[in-house]
Amino acid sequence: MTSVKSEVSAPKIKYRYARIIIDISHEKVDYAFTYRIPDSLSDQIDVGVCVSIPFGKGDTIRTGYVVQLTDHANYEESRIKEIRDIADAENGMDQRLVALSAWMKHRYGCTMIQALKTVLPVRKKVSAKEEKEVTLLVSSEQAMILRREAFLKHQSAKVRLFDALMGGATVRQKMLTGTLGISAATINSLAKQGILRVETTREFRNPIRFGQTQKTEISLTERQKEIADDYLSHYDAGNRQPALLHGITGSGKTEVYMEIIDGILQRGKEVIVLIPEIALTYQTVRRFYRRFGEKISILNSRLSAGERYDQIERVKKGEVKIMIGPRSALFTPFPNPGLILIDEEHETSYKSETMPRYHAREVAAKICEMTGAGLFLGSATPSLDSYFQAEKGRYRLYRLTERIGEAVLPAVQIVDLRKELAQGNFSMFSKALENAMDVTLARGEQIMLFLNRRGIAGFVSCKSCGEVLKCPHCDVSLSEHRDKMICHYCGYETAKVKTCPSCGSPYIYGMKAGTQQVEELLQKRYPKAKILRMDADTTRKKEDYDTILAAFSQHEADILVGTQMIVKGHDFPEVTLVGVLAADQSLFASDYTAPERTFQLLTQAVGRAGRADKKGQAVIQTYQPEHFAIQKAAAQDYAGFYEEEIGDREMLSFPPAGHLLAVLISGEDEERTGIFAGWLAGHLRKSIRKQNDDKSAGRRQPQVLGPAPAGIGKIKDQYRIVIYVKSESLEELIRAKDVMTEKVEYAGKQAEPFLVTYDFDPMSGY
Ligand code: ADP
Ligand code: ZN
Ligand code: ZN
Repeated sequence: MTSVKSEVSAPKIKYRYARIIIDISHEKVDYAFTYRIPDSLSDQIDVGVCVSIPFGKGDTIRTGYVVQLTDHANYEESRIKEIRDIADAENGMDQRLVALSAWMKHRYGCTMIQALKTVLPVRKKVSAKEEKEVTLLVSSEQAMILRREAFLKHQSAKVRLFDALMGGATVRQKMLTGTLGISAATINSLAKQGILRVETTREFRNPIRFGQTQKTEISLTERQKEIADDYLSHYDAGNRQPALLHGITGSGKTEVYMEIIDGILQRGKEVIVLIPEIALTYQTVRRFYRRFGEKISILNSRLSAGERYDQIERVKKGEVKIMIGPRSALFTPFPNPGLILIDEEHETSYKSETMPRYHAREVAAKICEMTGAGLFLGSATPSLDSYFQAEKGRYRLYRLTERIGEAVLPAVQIVDLRKELAQGNFSMFSKALENAMDVTLARGEQIMLFLNRRGIAGFVSCKSCGEVLKCPHCDVSLSEHRDKMICHYCGYETAKVKTCPSCGSPYIYGMKAGTQQVEELLQKRYPKAKILRMDADTTRKKEDYDTILAAFSQHEADILVGTQMIVKGHDFPEVTLVGVLAADQSLFASDYTAPERTFQLLTQAVGRAGRADKKGQAVIQTYQPEHFAIQKAAAQDYAGFYEEEIGDREMLSFPPAGHLLAVLISGEDEERTGIFAGWLAGHLRKSIRKQNDDKSAGRRQPQVLGPAPAGIGKIKDQYRIVIYVKSESLEELIRAKDVMTEKVEYAGKQAEPFLVTYDFDPMSGY
């Protein structure tokens, strides 16, 4: 067990008290007891350390975890008990998760409680359920005959029963008697005849049930085999250098993953597979199930608390060897994890949007360091960060450059919307897109229309020449705020312009158009076409997403209109046309990742067209046809995109070339929040200057930008102000965070508390 002690206890200050949690069950985790630290132990006591303590009236000795060190006890000194000793954690996996929480507190600037809540599995007590499960014992052919007999005798309950069980599924009796209205007597009589079996299980609930699935034998291509073998041979040699697999969509990455996972299982270890929730479809899970059967489990937001708890229990009993899930699956307490695999590693959903704002990739790397597991990343459009690490030789890079089978990349056309406007076409659809839609619908093939709506505040662009107004200091676009335009990075502001500074056109304004408008317009143009829409409004419930995708993939509609949701990992063999309505919409979101996000979205969108035998085409409409992110996406040229973008990042020291910390300060009163943010930034600047004086010159110290009002200036009546801190060194930024945390704690004791949150290397604007 690697401890994180050395990193957490940077300043060797001796504290008098420790706050300790006794029971790290989720419900009680909030409550920490205060204990005195005896002198003899003060060197060893630290956040995350397991200790033995006297507890309760009889002073029974219990074990607990230190979550905070402090000099302030909120009790009478005489009533405070003393820590007895350092203890061995009863459960190594718990100890590891507590140590990981301590690291997250330090790395991301959250409280220990926030970190523990993120990391520890939910342990709501759920009674182990007794279930009766029903399975057919006869062959499908016999079942068909029996079903027909029942049908002819009008025994409709029996018919429903056969329908439910055919194909080898195991179904809970409760579902048969409840939802399907089949009496227990019917089930029992068939059981007596040996047609089906009723079993009582006190089993843990497995959310995955596919019944029988045929194993499809795929023999890997030479290149696929080479990659898997190479990774595993390095693994066996004890080399844990992270690997990045860059392979275009459909190039067979998933098969490579499964081969490597198999290898790790054969070595007696377990595997965590991260897949973005949105790509964690039935299709994907079934593929893993086919290869690994009951050894896999999934964690996703659709599971109930009880089901989640059961999955963790199954993990602890050693029944599960592979856990598949989004970000949170990282914290699966495997006894002996051998590999963490992250698919679509560029996805923004891997970054938490609440404190601690951790990135799954970073936490995965930490877990690997603590446990000796390997880290394997894959993507069709790797994040700049991962590719940068590969270029620097820190990650081993593998490539898959061709699609499996006959599938070819679609023909891509970029349409200049400025020219459309010049020709008097004010519609959302260019002539080229309309023509392509006409032809596709006439052929009975399907269309996907993608409205790029990422980036919240309306950037201001000229509809005649494409000029976008930018901050003179930051190279990010200005956002429209009533009569002003503001830079969200440094606070620069200027009056709104009436005419374009570049060409003089009056058509310069912030743009907003919604999917609903697109849908209405389309319906008018194509009254006979069936149109489905997918956006935040039409996917309020979790199942809505699957329902819409299923309907579209069964060709129940001709056109699917949607936001970025529709371009993520799903196969629609009949889609031969993809239209992107406003490609630049995401380009000028006011954060530095805008070109990267745009490139990824467009590359994915274009990749949706023509997956099977039919050749596809894509039409990209934009006001910025010459922008490299658009050009390179149209050409599906990742390397070309990377070269240009990394140059920009290096010039401005943005991640991955440097690091950026966003500090969001929010409070009820606009003025006081502003004053507080200014005070905080001032202290930070002072502390940096002092440090600078102390040290010999040469080291580049963090640069403090702002405070400035956030992009969304107010949420739920809380005013939001941002300070950005930039540095080439992550350690310097973590130190800056610590300086601020101390000030915030101090201020919180004196006056009104403001909410301060930290976001390292933010992936979205504020
Ligand atoms: P990716 O994960 O890169 O998008 P997949 O692994 O899903 O690619 O592969 C795309 C398709 O090609 C899938 O239908 C998969 O079953 C198939 N496939 C992958 N590798 C092979 C192979 N070696 N032989 C035959 N089919 C393959
Ligand atoms: Zn600026
Ligand atoms: Zn202009």
